[in-house]
Amino acid sequence: MRALPQIIALSTLVALSLPSLPLGQAAGLFSKKSPLERKAKRYNLVPVQVAAPGVHIDMRYKITSAAGKPLYLREMPCLVNEYAGKKLRLAQQEVARQGYALKIWDAWRPPEAHKALWEAVKDPRYVVPPEKGLSWHCYGISIDLTLVKKDGSPVKMPTKFDVFSKQAASKYTGNDPEIRRNLAVLQTAMLNAGFRKINDEWWHFDDEATIKARKVYNVTAKDLGIPMP
Ligand SMILES: [Zn+2]
Repeated sequence: MRALPQIIALSTLVALSLPSLPLGQAAGLFSKKSPLERKAKRYNLVPVQVAAPGVHIDMRYKITSAAGKPLYLREMPCLVNEYAGKKLRLAQQEVARQGYALKIWDAWRPPEAHKALWEAVKDPRYVVPPEKGLSWHCYGISIDLTLVKKDGSPVKMPTKFDVFSKQAASKYTGNDPEIRRNLAVLQTAMLNAGFRKINDEWWHFDDEATIKARKVYNVTAKDLGIPMP
């Protein structure tokens, strides 16, 4: 009987301390995983905001795409392979030390959406042809992202997302020193964390080590019960 007041006191303490905890910790400690999160975990996929607290998420394919229409519905989660997520956390910490944050445009992309994107773009420089296999996005180990200020406000970068032109190259050839500097902050943090960049898209980074270690699964939106347009 005497234990009861102590339990109440402890839960009051937890409730009081909750707002000061970083989001990821709070989610891990105090909230149960949703059925989707539990299902995704079986395929080594985790929510980006839990893997890398402090990142901003703006999934562009909820709004539009090169196909001229959204590839995702509003309820589309932002998921990433858990090992790539650990690297993303390191990159986020590195840019945060300089007053910035990462903003995710796309991470795990279901094969259903990838095929729709290929149908629209049909340019193998920018989208992997389905007959050649899946994009690494489909395994959650490729991430499309940009640099923003900590509060999410934009900084100057070479182009918008999915601008398929020479200006989207990861080697910046323009004259704006601010863009050159911002791109260098993003690339240095991502490369230091263990990602690699590609030539044609400055916003795209791969976690090659995780796919080589075969810590990935082929998983569709249907497998996770996620509705698609
Ligand atoms: Zn990409």
